[in-house]
Amino acid sequence: MTSAKIFPKLVIPDTLAAGPGPGNTDARVLAAFAGAGVADHMQADVLRGMVECKHMLRSFMGTANIHTFAVAGTGWSGLDCMMSAVMPGDTVVAFVNGTFSGIDALTLRMKAATREELAQDALDPKPASVTVIEVAHGESVTGDVIEAALAKVKPKWAFMAHWETGSGRINDLKGFSEACERHGAMGLVDAVSSLGVADFALDDYPGVAGWASCPQKGLLCLPLTYAPVSFTDSYIAALKASGCYTYANHPIFEARHWGIVDGRDVEKGTYHRTHSGYAVAAFHEALRINLSDSLARRARDYAYHEKALRDAVVAMGCTVTSDMTSLVVLNLPAHLAGREMELVQNCRARGFGIWPTLSSPVQIRIGILNQLSRASITEIVTRFAKAINDMGGEIDMGAVNAVLGAHYQKTLAA
Ligand SMILES: *Cc1c(COP(=O)(O)O)cnc(C)c1O
Repeated sequence: MTSAKIFPKLVIPDTLAAGPGPGNTDARVLAAFAGAGVADHMQADVLRGMVECKHMLRSFMGTANIHTFAVAGTGWSGLDCMMSAVMPGDTVVAFVNGTFSGIDALTLRMKAATREELAQDALDPKPASVTVIEVAHGESVTGDVIEAALAKVKPKWAFMAHWETGSGRINDLKGFSEACERHGAMGLVDAVSSLGVADFALDDYPGVAGWASCPQKGLLCLPLTYAPVSFTDSYIAALKASGCYTYANHPIFEARHWGIVDGRDVEKGTYHRTHSGYAVAAFHEALRINLSDSLARRARDYAYHEKALRDAVVAMGCTVTSDMTSLVVLNLPAHLAGREMELVQNCRARGFGIWPTLSSPVQIRIGILNQLSRASITEIVTRFAKAINDMGGEIDMGAVNAVLGAHYQKTLAA
């Protein structure tokens, strides 16, 4: 017998998380996580906490949908739950303008494929019933593109990412919802990157039947806890009619532990799966923080500080191609073009966690999740400028600081 290899205790350093996500989790959330007692998933306060989370989620998401709860895991867990009602042979139109909507479309192709279609290309099926509309990297999905595709195909399901984090683009949610209503499609939306950053309410988009988000971006709950989801009654009716092939992520079954049974709120949940009191406490605290800050205020702060970062990198000679307010996607100045990946790697090696794009073209992504202060933005800008200068750039920090100073002279509108 060989002896077991025991590694030294794992130490993970603190980094400056300045990417598209995960965001900087509030110390209060970590304290809630670490401070929870040992309690099982049917203990009264754990169940009460889950019911309270459900009510806070409805406020946070701006919805009266009874099936509003959260799925254990990451963003993809919530998205898998949302897409679970899509069955083999279902007609789907999916709009793709970057890495994440691309993976969403792959999920939809896997779910809508017949057995034969799946077996033909198991990891990348191309079912006849799914239409994928590709929009170029760096561009948004517009109302016209959505309208044309839904008018032509008239699918059962339509899918779009609200904010495509891969290319940093905001897609037309209103146009999507209206086109879904006009053409009788049930809309499915990946709101992983927009929830908690954009000021919007689910119920203002009646064409959307299913929504999914994540714990670690706008909600700022990195101890991987829960991915918020919300479903209209018509989604639940469609799911009841067709059934679906999952127990763990089944929207009706999973909802029971959050106290949603037979389409009604009940006082306490019933067993669906094991929940951790630590995770429930952290998620609960993250929701409390978000609601007391208010979405409107957060959205305004993101727009204000994103503008500062954007102005600063433009002053460095970079070109910004994104329009999200939590993320700046950019190309380096012409004389450093093509060295984006090298710069990102240099920064990451020094604990400055910016990101490249994950699909071509290679661009740099700098995020500001929970970095909503002049000091944080200045730190990000300074470290980024230094990384450019280390590669032979000639950035005049005085000029960049002047741009930041001018921006921060302008106070946030009340
Ligand atoms: C981050 C992200 C995901 C994936 O979320 P995970 O938490 O990594 O599972 C999906 N969609 C979008 C738009 C994202 O930004």
